Amino acid sequence: ATPMSIMVGVGRGAAAGILIRNAEALERLEKVDTLVVDKTGTLTLGKPTLSAVETLGDLPEDEILRLAASLERGSEHPIATSILAGAQARGVTTASVENFTSPAGKGVSGTVDGRRLLLGNSAFLREAGIDVTAADARADTLREGGATVVLLAVGGSVAGLLAVSDPIKDTTTEALTRLREAGLHIVMLTGDNRRSAAAVAARLGIDAVEAEVLPEDKARIVQRLKAEGRVVAMAGDGINDAPALAAADVGIAMGTGTDIAMESAGVTLVKGDLRGIARARHLSRATMANIR
Ligand code: ADP
Ligand code: MG
Repeated sequence: ATPMSIMVGVGRGAAAGILIRNAEALERLEKVDTLVVDKTGTLTLGKPTLSAVETLGDLPEDEILRLAASLERGSEHPIATSILAGAQARGVTTASVENFTSPAGKGVSGTVDGRRLLLGNSAFLREAGIDVTAADARADTLREGGATVVLLAVGGSVAGLLAVSDPIKDTTTEALTRLREAGLHIVMLTGDNRRSAAAVAARLGIDAVEAEVLPEDKARIVQRLKAEGRVVAMAGDGINDAPALAAADVGIAMGTGTDIAMESAGVTLVKGDLRGIARARHLSRATMANIR
């Protein structure tokens, strides 16, 4: 590609909120046949709100919320932000936490008022030897609606659950329709529960879903698709997505996401509007046609 035509393409992209960092990304975009897309913060707004707090034992709901919010003070995950905002809205004040940990893709744990607490997905509690059978049955009902549900364990048994709902971006449906029409294979990738993921995917007409994926496995899934001979674009917003963005033929970061994601990607969609992907492919085709 000639430097001049690349410059024109990059300039047109920038005017449309599509920042193209390198010539390679612009050259490869037209060849992309597969889009791997993160759910939270990429397909959805990434600003979930607390939609339910339920007790599954003796503790009142406000106490479930207080303990959960206390733990989440130490986390920057969108789930943490929504639980803290929910607690504040209900006038619930948080307590201090000792022995805090936050294993990525699982949840948070710590000691509050001398009680050992775990808050996170079912697998996280199960790994700690906690029986989640009854809690999961209730949680699954909420997950069918697309909510993300986290369980709170107090002293070794499940005490309650919290559900957070993250709306799909206004622009997502149209963006995916365009890409499907262009013949792209679309794969949704998420650390979230299988049922919540399936509910969101069904709403968007996505039929390939990889759920309950640990952060370190996101890049591996991209590599696997490449090994199958696909030309893969990966769209994501989080720290967790950075290795997968770097592994893809074209990494596409949300400008609304983390700096690390943007540094790992060849393309940034300034406002996180996924319609920019179809647009960027058109730019790529026009640029490359100009050169040929
Ligand atoms: P995503 O791919 O949706 O961004 P993550 O890999 O960050 O998901 O997290 C996967 C799952 O781990 C979440 O759906 C949630 O169940 C649990 N989790 C992660 N961080 C937290 C947290 N701070 N509090 C509660 N649960 C969490
Ligand atoms: Mg995300």
